[in-house]
Amino acid sequence: MDLPLPLRGGCLCGAVRYEIRDAPYGQANCHCRACQHATGGAYAPVLLVPAAGFSATGPMRRHEVLGDSGNRVARAFCERCGTTLYAHTTRVETMRPVYAVTLDHPELFRPDLDCWVEAAQSWMVMDPALPKFPRDPPARLAGIRKPGRD
Ligand SMILES: [Zn+2]
Ligand SMILES: [Zn+2]
Repeated sequence: MDLPLPLRGGCLCGAVRYEIRDAPYGQANCHCRACQHATGGAYAPVLLVPAAGFSATGPMRRHEVLGDSGNRVARAFCERCGTTLYAHTTRVETMRPVYAVTLDHPELFRPDLDCWVEAAQSWMVMDPALPKFPRDPPARLAGIRKPGRD
């Protein structure tokens, strides 16, 4: 993929802004229940970005849950307008899933796959051309190089 870097985005009210300086490891449509609740949508389009190349500023709070995967997942949201911006999972400390609809140019998003499809809503129509994963996507798409993790 050839995304123009840095990518910038932010929340609905504009108080929180972020920057993605390194190319994402991958792009995915996540259908897990936590993403459904956090976004209010049927699924979450996410950019899986290297944590070292990601920064965000503004009035944020975090809400932490035990994810469907069994890992703790914290989601950062704007404390003023409530927009969910990105997540931080204990499964992969070096990667941040960033909610792609919050990009200034969300049209740049191109999903590589659908993940957590076992939790997808029955009325959700997916692109049949994309690879489907019942739960987490393959490790390489989350930037995990250590073998045997996934
Ligand atoms: Zn806001
Ligand atoms: Zn999810």
